[in-house]
Parts: sequence; structure tokens; C-alpha cells
Amino acid sequence: MATRDELLQELGLWPRWVRKASSDRAPPQRDARPQEAPRVPVALAVHGGEDPGAGGASTAVDRAARIAALDWGEFAAAVDACTACGLCRSRQRSVPGVGDVAARWLFVGEAPGADEDAQGEPFVGQAGRLLDSMLQALGLVRGADVYIANVLKCRPPNNRTPTPAEVAACRPFLDRQIQLIGPRVIVALGKSAANTLLGSDATIGSLRGRVHDYRGVPLVVTYHPAYLLRTLHDKAKAWEDLVLARRTLQAGGGA
Ligand code: URA
Repeated sequence: MATRDELLQELGLWPRWVRKASSDRAPPQRDARPQEAPRVPVALAVHGGEDPGAGGASTAVDRAARIAALDWGEFAAAVDACTACGLCRSRQRSVPGVGDVAARWLFVGEAPGADEDAQGEPFVGQAGRLLDSMLQALGLVRGADVYIANVLKCRPPNNRTPTPAEVAACRPFLDRQIQLIGPRVIVALGKSAANTLLGSDATIGSLRGRVHDYRGVPLVVTYHPAYLLRTLHDKAKAWEDLVLARRTLQAGGGA
């Protein structure tokens, strides 16, 4: 029985995204995780944890404003201290994001899985190895001019789909990350990231193939690497999406 890698090669799908061993991965650079003990500004929980309860709306607005004022030195610790939804209780580690904090490329996935939860870094499991190969096909490497984040910073139990309340609670962190990074192009990996960032409820098929706008930043939608591992025939379309993202960045004055 052929392995998935052998199958990919057999099918001659181009580009042949060769999965790299995790030891080949470039070490994260200029990580969002601060080296020194950071100052955690103010409690970032919505009162009542995952249940905003009475006064929840104004508290959520206050919380969003506090998150919008975070700097990189505070960001990872603030994510780690967050109790705004119940996921902080089931997770092992928070997964704020990784990479070059001044990157032109930002890739956004859905939520940490088991490997990410254990390591505190996004996309380090099987889907992450495919993402690294996708980056490599673009001449990119994790950590250099690339930042990787998720919509949710904590793992949903059993990798279930994030609830709207969890997405809403985590959203200010993603918005702040994007503001701090100032990417030249955003690649939304999968439906969750695309619909969260675009405020839509559409299929990937209807969103891909054109350039969207997230607060003035061009955004290209493509398939989630985990989906591509299961659905080999959409790999060529994903490559088209990445080429569109690269063209978009270049047209905007990028190298
Ligand atoms: N899937 C995601 O969306 N994000 C990860 O970090 C890992 C798998």
C-alpha cells in the first residue's frame, strides 16, 4: 500500500510539495513569545469566563480595546492569561502565533490541534509539514518574512469546529496581531479563517480565485492544508491561490 507521499509523487501533482522533516524547519524568528517575563497589562477575561453574562457587551468592548493596545512584548502573555472562553481550561498551551513580526506574508489557520497544543506553536503537525512545503514552493521559510497564526489561540477539545462565541472571544487577538505585523498579503487557510476575516459565511470554492480585502490588506483564500492532505486533486488549485497571493504582493510593490 503506497504511503500518501508516494501517492502524491505517483500522481505527479505539480508542484510536488515535499514534506520536510520537522528537524529541517527553520527555528522561529522574532517570535511573538517574548524572551523576558512580559508585563500582562490588565485582565483580558470577559467577566464570567465563557459566559459574558450581565454587562457582557460593554466588558467585551473594554477587553477588545485593551487587546487593541497590546504590544508584542505583552501579546503572548496576554493570550496565555486569557480566560474569555472555556478553552483555556482544556488546553495544554496557548498558541499565539509564530514568525517574523514584520512579515509581508501572513498565513491564518483555524485553531491549534493536538501537536500545536503540546508545543505552543501553530502548524507543527502533519498539516503544518504540508504548509511548510507550500511555503517552500513559494521560496519562503517559516520565520523569515512569514508569520503564521490561527483564528483561535487555544485548542478546541477533539479538534471540534470552533463555536461562534469562541471565535468572537479570540478575534481581538487576531485583529491586533494583523495590525502589529502589517502584512502585505494575508492567506486565509480554510473556511474558518476566510469567513472570520471576511465576515462572510461562504464556501472556499466561492471565495478563492480573487483578491479580497481585510481592512486594506489584500487577502487570498485557499484550502486548509489538512483538507489538501485528504483531497489531493485540489492541490493544484491551492498552488494557483498561492501564485495569486504572490502576484498580489508583487503588484503592491513587494519583491
Ligand atoms: N490546523 C490549524 O488550523 N492550525 C494549526 O495550527 C494546526 C492545524
